[in-house]
Amino acid sequence: MKLGCIADDLTGATDLALMLAREGLRTIQTIGVPRADLDLSGADAVVVALKSRTIPAQEAIAQSLAAAESLRKSEAQHLFFKYCSTFDSTDEGNIGPVTDALLAFTDSDFTLACPAFPANGRTVYKGHLFVNGEPLHESSMKDHPLTPMRDSNLVRVLQRQTKLSVGLVAYEDVEAGPDSIRIAFAREKAAGHRIVIVDALSDSHLRAIGLAAADLSLMTGGSGVAMGLPAAYRQGEGLTVPSSSTAFDAPAGRSIILAGSCSSATQEQVKVALDAGIPALRLDPLDLASGAMTPQTALDWLESQPSQRPALIYSTANPNDVQAVQSRLGRMHAGEIVENTLAEIAMALPALSFTRLIVAGGETSGAVVNALDVDALAIGPEIDPGVPWTRSLAGNDLALVLKSGNFGSPDFFLKAWNMLR
Ligand code: ADP
Repeated sequence: MKLGCIADDLTGATDLALMLAREGLRTIQTIGVPRADLDLSGADAVVVALKSRTIPAQEAIAQSLAAAESLRKSEAQHLFFKYCSTFDSTDEGNIGPVTDALLAFTDSDFTLACPAFPANGRTVYKGHLFVNGEPLHESSMKDHPLTPMRDSNLVRVLQRQTKLSVGLVAYEDVEAGPDSIRIAFAREKAAGHRIVIVDALSDSHLRAIGLAAADLSLMTGGSGVAMGLPAAYRQGEGLTVPSSSTAFDAPAGRSIILAGSCSSATQEQVKVALDAGIPALRLDPLDLASGAMTPQTALDWLESQPSQRPALIYSTANPNDVQAVQSRLGRMHAGEIVENTLAEIAMALPALSFTRLIVAGGETSGAVVNALDVDALAIGPEIDPGVPWTRSLAGNDLALVLKSGNFGSPDFFLKAWNMLR
């Protein structure tokens, strides 16, 4: 395994896994530290999704080290610590403390920190992080409920979180290419710095940084800076070139869409699917609460549907309807009822020969993945930006899409199936 990654949250992990897969690495994402019996031998990269962004620093360190240990057992040659491209953290951590711990773990004395992701409007110039052109401390991140970012100077921000000395490799060195970046690394190291913030304003900067940093035992940053690593590894030892194939092997079986998101994108996707005549069942939270409808109702309905067509079960509703339901049931309770129902339906799907699933909604996806006991996914081709097909490893053999509510084009529920072989 070339690269073992530790991500501090689930959606960030998927983001990174997709980036690596798109650049040609066979990538597996695990939800939590990989189980000891999980076979990771076919993977070039493994991304471990933790939930450690805002937990106490000591716990974040412990979880990250457990992930690192497991990746080392699978013979990861390099480690990557992934955090948010807005450097979400407090003066207590967790970026600095986890970086310190992973440097010690890898027995190395130098790493870089680069959250830049220009395609998403995150750039770093002279060590200052900009979000869509605004300095971090003037962006909406200044009011984040958990990690308010009030200083855009990342050298200062990180220095408050670590006892190690923090340096800077600025734009001029990055612009001049990989060799200059390597020289700058050596210069900063000689000056006693152990972590360097690295400027990046464009994808070509990220690719140059990837080439310059590919030998480091540990790298840290957003998913952007991982962009250049696959190419660097390929140069080193002839890994396969990314395939342009968009087809994906899926287990034989029936197809289903479970939509628990009420986002505007998902509302549109449900509408397009209904207009196209996809057999559909709407879950009404009030009926679920009263017992007039149960998960079994949905399963009975599913059994009576034509097996060659995808079926759609959705609770997706417009804001007025959601509000009406929430005022009757309470916001949390309404959400739980729907999530639990979709989870119970999901649990019964393998026995009904459903092997191809699209799930819409972040929280909904979490509930469904839990119910199906899926804890590792092979990342497949991208259907729409940010949303890949995946295939479960271990347990039920499933092709799965976990779609964050607002992602995907209007015809997403129709076209995604065409990529399955
Ligand atoms: P998104 O990714 O769009 O935020 P999530 O699945 O994360 O989607 O969140 C949607 C939440 O709304 C879930 O808790 C879900 O159970 C809840 N929900 C779904 N349908 C309804 C509905 N009709 N009324 C009220 N809440 C709903």
